[in-house]
This record gives sequence, structure tokens and C-alpha cells, in this order.
Amino acid sequence: MSDPLAGLYQQVILDHSKQRTGFGALPHPGAQRFERNPTCGDEITLQVTLEPGTDRIAALGWTGSGCSISQASASVLAGLAPGQTIAELQATIDVFRAMMRSRGVGEPDEDVLGDAIAFQGVSKFVMRVKCAMLAWVAAEGCLADLA
Ligand code: ZN
Repeated sequence: MSDPLAGLYQQVILDHSKQRTGFGALPHPGAQRFERNPTCGDEITLQVTLEPGTDRIAALGWTGSGCSISQASASVLAGLAPGQTIAELQATIDVFRAMMRSRGVGEPDEDVLGDAIAFQGVSKFVMRVKCAMLAWVAAEGCLADLA
């Protein structure tokens, strides 16, 4: 643990894996997707609700089980999504995916990613990228259904 930033980011992931923002089913979801990561055994059911008559996300809820990276990344996403439009959240997902494919190279946009930037270190571990992407892939599916 020579890199203090790496330690800080690990703390963000650890905190979110316990905090689990957005954990729980939404009462009347506008869209729902189930995704599975067979390599690790992570599963998620993710739901999105829009503010009535708008394309703005009112709430993002999820249930499921898996490793701390998959849980933490769902929690971070659930914190970021409310208030964003479908197009804005899709753009955020695109930035997150680019970072997760970067293998730790480059400087992702912290203004867009917020706490999700903590997962940059995970992008160096190819086996764990799917854990981090799971919730975001499910959300992307929901957005496609809602658009
Ligand atoms: Zn996992």
C-alpha cells in the first residue's frame, strides 16, 4: 500500500459496499434489468424510475448479491443517477466504461464520475472489471427500455 490514493479509493469502495446506497426494490419501476457475472457469481436486479412526464431519473434501486466491488459500484451508481436525464446518465456510463477499459491509464473526469472514480484502480484487474460494470450494464439496459 505505497500509493496513498490507492488506499483512499479502496476506502471509498469499502464504504460503499457496506452503505449500499439505493439497495431495495422500487415500488413502481419504469424499467428493470437482471444481470449476472458468472465468473464471480455476482447478481443484480436493477430498477429505474423516471420523474413523471420527464426523462429525468427519480430513483435507481437494486437488489442482489456478490463481491464487494459489484455491491460498491451499484451503490455509487445509485448515488449518481437521481436527477440526471437518460442522456446524461448514458454519458456517465460511457465515461465509466471507458475508464474500466483503460487498465488504469489516463485521467478520468472526476466531475462526471464522482465517487465512481474510485474504481479506476479496479480497471487494472481484468477479472474484476465485470464486477464493477455489472450494475452499470443493467442501468444501461433500463435506460434503453425507457428511452
Ligand atoms: Zn464480483
